[in-house]
Amino acid sequence: MMTDELLEEYKKCWEKDRLVINIGKCPKCENLVSRVKIELVDASVAFGQTKWNAISCLCPSCNMILSIQIDPVAIMNDTLKAIGKR
Ligand SMILES: [Zn+2]
Repeated sequence: MMTDELLEEYKKCWEKDRLVINIGKCPKCENLVSRVKIELVDASVAFGQTKWNAISCLCPSCNMILSIQIDPVAIMNDTLKAIGKR
């Protein structure tokens, strides 16, 4: 059962037509993480030649690396280029 106070709290959390409730904490500084800083990094297989563009997501409070993934924009651009070459 949703109380009026909880409903008000949910309403405050609506931002740009999406519900934003952040409960995730940084494992190092334990601050709530409502956004991350992105750094561009290179990813490669050990001893390999192939390099990918990757992004690392950092805690905005202490710069702890929270995750690293292949850069989705670079993947999209590379895919579009590859399709264009066929
Ligand atoms: Zn942190």
